[in-house]
Amino acid sequence: MTVPYAQVRGWIEQYGSTVVENKEYLTQLDSAIGDADHGINMDRGMKAALAKLEGLEGEDIGGLLKTVGMTLVSTVGGAGGPLYGTLFLQMGTATAGKSELEAADWAAALDGAVNGVQMRGKAEVGDKTMIDALIPARDSFRTALADGASFVEALGRSAEAAEEGMRATIPLVARKGRASYLGERSAGHQDPGATSSYLLIKTAAETWSGEG
Ligand code: ADP
Ligand code: MG
Repeated sequence: MTVPYAQVRGWIEQYGSTVVENKEYLTQLDSAIGDADHGINMDRGMKAALAKLEGLEGEDIGGLLKTVGMTLVSTVGGAGGPLYGTLFLQMGTATAGKSELEAADWAAALDGAVNGVQMRGKAEVGDKTMIDALIPARDSFRTALADGASFVEALGRSAEAAEEGMRATIPLVARKGRASYLGERSAGHQDPGATSSYLLIKTAAETWSGEG
């Protein structure tokens, strides 16, 4: 299987819908350990990105993802905008000039996503951030491929790992971002950014396996 340009676009569109559906939930998670805006931020950013894509011509997956990234950086404030902006910009750099993705291209895109977020936010696994979902997603995708799994199977394993990573943020004490100001009181709550990151990976898995 390869994922053609139209399906990458379909993933971004589907993520926009997923964010709408989870807007209250993400905001509620952020109200416990942040400032109650994560769902609002992600929704504003994805709506702006989808509007930008309407005028986009051609079949360059890298260009598509960079457009999403630049729009998020310029329309979403706080920590989430620059972090998700960089995630998509780096995914775009990793897939520049491609009109379809093979499994190895998606592995490279996930590397870009993780490196971009870490370059900007300096978080490690266990800091209670997006990284807690993204690194397991990236690593299990690669491990699955190395084990001989198909692209679709590897996507499924990657989404499962992201979900586990997201749940594993619940007991953690935040060491990065706004939640870290709470210290020990941040424990016992699921991280909003890890949740939106899990949803991003899950949406790709579902859209590209035909389940979405
Ligand atoms: P803000 O914190 O500015 O209100 P959001 O609410 O949109 O921004 O996003 C909060 C999320 O950003 C957190 O749940 C966390 O996952 C993520 N985050 C914050 N700081 C970092 C960081 N340094 N590295 C990675 N992710 C981070
Ligand atoms: Mg917030």
